[in-house]
Amino acid sequence: MAPLIRSCIACRKRENPAELLRVVKVVDQVIPDPQHLLPGRGAWLHRTCFDTAKQRGSFNRALRSDVALSTEQLEDFLQQQ
Ligand SMILES: [Zn+2]
Repeated sequence: MAPLIRSCIACRKRENPAELLRVVKVVDQVIPDPQHLLPGRGAWLHRTCFDTAKQRGSFNRALRSDVALSTEQLEDFLQQQ
């Protein structure tokens, strides 16, 4: 079994995925995928790195989106944690 290590899209630190939150792109939305169930291109970040990722445009780059992605649903999710 291949070691499963992911990098946070904001701080680039390499982590066990259990330490990171997976998000996926659905049309123009960044959707949280805490159970790792959603198909499609995913990106990983620390919950605490959200602000940095948003400021740097890390979501657009990591999810290879040409259109500006909305992080509204992800922000709602993080606020409920
Ligand atoms: Zn991070």
